[in-house]
Amino acid sequence: MVAKGDLLYAWTTDSGLAKKAECGGAVTALLKFALENKIVDAVVAVQKGFDLYDAIPVAITDPKDLDQTAGSLHCGTLLMSTFIKNYLDGAKKMKIGVVVKGCDLMGLLEEAKRDEINLNNLLTIGVNCGGSVNPTRARAMIQDKFGVDPDKVHKEEIDKGQFIIEYEGGHKGISIDELEDAGYGRRTNCRRCKYKVPRQADLACGNWGVLGEKAGKATFVEVCSAKGADLVSKAVASKKLETCAADPKGIEIRGKVEGAMLKLGEKWRKKDFTGLRDDLWKIIDKETSRCIKCYSCIEKCPVCSATAFKGRDESIMVRRGKLPSDPMFHLRRFAHISDSCVNCGQCEELCPMEIPLALFSHAIRVEADNAFNPKLGASSYTN
Ligand code: FAD
Ligand code: SF4
Ligand code: SF4
Repeated sequence: MVAKGDLLYAWTTDSGLAKKAECGGAVTALLKFALENKIVDAVVAVQKGFDLYDAIPVAITDPKDLDQTAGSLHCGTLLMSTFIKNYLDGAKKMKIGVVVKGCDLMGLLEEAKRDEINLNNLLTIGVNCGGSVNPTRARAMIQDKFGVDPDKVHKEEIDKGQFIIEYEGGHKGISIDELEDAGYGRRTNCRRCKYKVPRQADLACGNWGVLGEKAGKATFVEVCSAKGADLVSKAVASKKLETCAADPKGIEIRGKVEGAMLKLGEKWRKKDFTGLRDDLWKIIDKETSRCIKCYSCIEKCPVCSATAFKGRDESIMVRRGKLPSDPMFHLRRFAHISDSCVNCGQCEELCPMEIPLALFSHAIRVEADNAFNPKLGASSYTN
């Protein structure tokens, strides 16, 4: 019997799915089992679109279609919570199984606080996350640092600290540190992120800590809730999934890798936030003077309530037809969101004027957390 707190290796019994999956295929096997048995009405996952730089969110209701979502797309920088909020009525009328990275999960929790998502209708399958890469920057990085035509690449992965590509004619890996020193690699918000294992999900799945003959062939599953335990038990009883206890050495290694990632996140926070401290408002004022008022940063933010900006053009703070925008537009937005910023990076990712919006709201959030709880210390934050 599987229980909350268990640490398992798990793998699909479906050989076709095993070939497509990232490692053991446990994530897809569990979601498929949940859909086939009507535990959920739909599954929200990510699927390759035009190419591997084009990750698209999908809502699937036919279990047969689920295999095409297997595998990890590291250039998938989308946020699942706003997809559910905007296009699936916040799971208010249907039960949804969803794959979540740490930021997806934090987005869901914030939206639930605002009554925009019904958490009771969600089954959350977490995936550990070392970071994702902006698709446009990934193309430039592959051309520039790997010397390979990005259109010739048919597979990418992040493994043992390297970004690895397979392309017509071979494969090549370069360390993430080297890529980041050259201005490529993971998105800047991902470098600062400290939510690597999504333990607030029902299950947290990853590849860290899978050793020996199981390496690459099993998924490391941390069972985080009774709902997650029930799902794994039923899938095993139905012979859709096989499991064994995780190797103690693997558990130790996974813990060490997670610890190293948290330290790295802390290092990036120090690096990114130093220099902002004394002049934050001046820097914000200068950077946001490029704003063209497209409002992407409002629409895609999981914590920004659009109602606060209703009638925004008519508001005296955002005068119609005026560019650059009134500074109060941005000050008001930061005041409104920064206390609950989850550092998902959507604002910065989608800003056409490349304003480092996530850097500012994340810096304000961390500073505020420190101010309210001076004993906590910056290293305790998980967001
Ligand atoms: P599969 O059965 O292959 O299913 C994978 C699921 O992930 C599918 O449902 C797919 O739709 C979904 N998915 C693919 N891309 C994305 C995306 N960009 N955002 C949201 N969902 C997506 N594990 C670690 O242990 N350490 C890491 O550092 C790590 N980094 C990761 C970074 C990213 C961006 C992603 C997406 C995953 C990462 N993982 C990491 C998790 C790992 O790659 C596998 O997803 C996990 O081990 C499950 O394997 P599986 O074979 O059971 O998954
Ligand atoms: Fe992963 Fe964190 Fe980046 Fe989200 S913000 S993609 S959880 S590293
Ligand atoms: Fe302005 Fe960028 Fe926000 Fe668009 S996304 S409103 S350009 S700050």
